[in-house]
Amino acid sequence: MKNGSGLREQVLERCKGYCEKCGKALPYGWALHHRKLKSRGGQDTVQNFLALHHECHNTGTKSVHMNPMEAERNGWIVGSWQDPLECPVTLPDGSSVILTEEGTYFYQEG
Ligand SMILES: [Zn+2]
Repeated sequence: MKNGSGLREQVLERCKGYCEKCGKALPYGWALHHRKLKSRGGQDTVQNFLALHHECHNTGTKSVHMNPMEAERNGWIVGSWQDPLECPVTLPDGSSVILTEEGTYFYQEG
């Protein structure tokens, strides 16, 4: 089990410094988003996190938290009954991937 800062580095390595929602470069102060929200029992694991701009996370009108239905369709938010490892995420280039426990993208067919 990695600590919080180790996980942050692991997520940043996975996304190569680009927002996992909009695809633009992340600033120094980016947001670590819980796909399964903490209030739903979500854990601090690399597969449960997305690296996002704050405006893509919760401050902007197009943000994940302001558009929960879109976020759920794209795997950016998952339900309390779901396992983030089993829910594909739509990346900025439109590809559908599973976020692995190793901190990598596993590309899905189609
Ligand atoms: Zn963004």
